[in-house]
Amino acid sequence: MHFQWYPGHMTKAKRMMQENIKLIDLVIELVDARIPISSRNPDIDELGKNKARLVLLNKADLAEDKWNDAWAEYFKAKGYSVVKVNSKKGGGIKSIQGVIREACKEKIERDRKRGILNRPVRAMVVGIPNVGKSTFINALAGKACAKTGNKPGVTKGKQWIRLNKQVELLDTPGILWPKFEDQAVGLRLAFIGSMKDEILNTEELAAELIKFLGTYYPDVLPEKYAVEPDEDPYVVLHQIAKNRNCVVRGNELNTEKAAMLLLDDFRNGRLGRLTLEYPEGVC
Ligand code: GDP
Repeated sequence: MHFQWYPGHMTKAKRMMQENIKLIDLVIELVDARIPISSRNPDIDELGKNKARLVLLNKADLAEDKWNDAWAEYFKAKGYSVVKVNSKKGGGIKSIQGVIREACKEKIERDRKRGILNRPVRAMVVGIPNVGKSTFINALAGKACAKTGNKPGVTKGKQWIRLNKQVELLDTPGILWPKFEDQAVGLRLAFIGSMKDEILNTEELAAELIKFLGTYYPDVLPEKYAVEPDEDPYVVLHQIAKNRNCVVRGNELNTEKAAMLLLDDFRNGRLGRLTLEYPEGVC
């Protein structure tokens, strides 16, 4: 799903978030484990201040696990609870309810001291488009859950999903806008397919990915496509087209097709688990 953001969208998204955030105790923020910084919008720190915070490294199955662990440490050091998740396959989902309770411990204790017992903790899921919010909500809620409908004192129309006696989840996620002003960030978002490919054309984008892989994962392209490393990414792209028989009209090589093949293989994890940015300093 591709999104085009305009100032009007951002204002509306922010207003919705400000409204919904008042209703909850905990913000569950999804980031893409391959680009945990580029897939965040830092405004959430201001919007979610005074709330318990849980960061989910989603699509952890597509990122290198040693870096997933390093990123988990990075976010923990900033005071967030963190879980590595594969929403598509359900990895990490089971632990979430316990982590939510733990993250809201202080709130539950405060309630208890005031004599408020058994008030469920309320949470909402937020993140930029395509990060996996809907998939995660479905994985967490499963089939067993019932929607609780409108409640007194809650803005009309809000639907809550009761996960158990102690936790309720707002059924619609909050959408954050990506940081598209930053070129390097835009490029990483384009790599994972979360930006309209129009910031660069397909071949330019593939060439940038080839450059990145040549530096950080030099074995990946030779192993996958039997290509020779080359300083010039277009030479590599040409080799991919040749070795994968990407041709048009008879036997003319089609590097556009090769570029799409490469991007598609990368996005679907067929090049292996790859992390595109690292906590110590970004690539
Ligand atoms: P949303 O826009 O944030 O609600 O994102 P979606 O839930 O629609 O997910 C976007 C795409 O990412 C879909 O194709 C999902 O199947 C895929 N996806 C979501 N979570 C995961 C995950 O943990 N691992 C993988 N490999 N794919 C995922």
